[in-house]
Amino acid sequence: MRFPLKLTANLTKYIASKRFHGEKRFPLVMMLEPLHACNLTCTGCGRIREYKSTINEMLTVEQCLAAMEDCGAPVVSICGGEPTIYPELGRLVREVLDRGRHIYLCTNGMFIRKRLHEFKPSSSFFWNVHLDGLERTHDLAVEREGVFGEAIEGIRAAKAAGFLVCSNTTIYKETDLHEIAELFAYLYDLGVDGYMISPSYSYAAVQTKDIFMSREEVREKFQQACHLLEKYNLMTSPIYLEYLRGERELMCTAWGNPTYNPRGWKGPCYLMTDAHHATFQEFLEKTPWDEYGRGRDPRCQDCMVHVGYEPSAVLGAHRKLGDNWKMLRWQLNGRMGGARGKKQGVNGSGNGGANGHGTGPNGSYAGGNGSIAGHTDLVSADGSLRVL
Ligand code: SF4
Repeated sequence: MRFPLKLTANLTKYIASKRFHGEKRFPLVMMLEPLHACNLTCTGCGRIREYKSTINEMLTVEQCLAAMEDCGAPVVSICGGEPTIYPELGRLVREVLDRGRHIYLCTNGMFIRKRLHEFKPSSSFFWNVHLDGLERTHDLAVEREGVFGEAIEGIRAAKAAGFLVCSNTTIYKETDLHEIAELFAYLYDLGVDGYMISPSYSYAAVQTKDIFMSREEVREKFQQACHLLEKYNLMTSPIYLEYLRGERELMCTAWGNPTYNPRGWKGPCYLMTDAHHATFQEFLEKTPWDEYGRGRDPRCQDCMVHVGYEPSAVLGAHRKLGDNWKMLRWQLNGRMGGARGKKQGVNGSGNGGANGHGTGPNGSYAGGNGSIAGHTDLVSADGSLRVL
């Protein structure tokens, strides 16, 4: 199976219940940003630029949980900023899992080894590591040497400890897709369970605009990407991929992936900010949804990002006969675990497995390698975050 069975079953039940009750707009994945601070300054990142003035602000765990209950999405993507510099990340993850939600913990991978001991493997919890290429390319994109190497060591440690791990790759205009195929082959050998790919976001706050793609460029790039990468356990849905390849149209359903951060519910979407709302209901009701999307707002013209269109296949208009069958086949045809899963015959029931602690087989990961600052070093004595 492509995803853990429990995740698929819970999502299916949730969607059926929402449809049964006639709800027109409801969330699938909550993008939870407990903080915007990061230890890196990646070229294509809009967050650290847009929220520069509030970069030291953090949500409390209680605020995160209240927002999660307010929204009700079955999947929580913990992102930021860099969540692994959030001091109470271990408690936040435990509390979210205790409430029956599924988590993707999105990280640049620098502090996985340092913080692994705070988590237990679970079929509801994925480490989601951002990698935009092999070592040289990735370190260039994140503007710091050694990031790729540390992220890989983090992945190794997480896999050795029995965690589910997926990778997340942004495709830019300059991305060499043959290099991404090499990257995936490498990650496959490490036992990585799945791979997400999405086109770069044209953040308003990022000045280096020439790295982003037009719609035509996205289509060309993804035709090639699918050809080279589809043999891997892609976690990007086949319907969204059809849209990216230019084989079908979808309407934006940004309310399916709402973002919550220290300023509130961000409207209309992860990418653009026209307002922040105090409650999820206010976000749903006060956002003028009919004014967004291609042909309605010039800022949406070239947008094909997953937060706007990945939920559309399930939630939006333009669904086609046979889409449900296509999604089911896709789920059944996948296989987690990479080369490791192949050897062990992983069938996708997805237990994150093993010992539940952050040490490698020889204990070598317990204290990190000393070259990376521990998370406590990232918090000043007054509790504010120290931006590196
Ligand atoms: S089309 Fe893109 S930029 Fe526009 S509202 Fe949807 S997700 Fe946001």
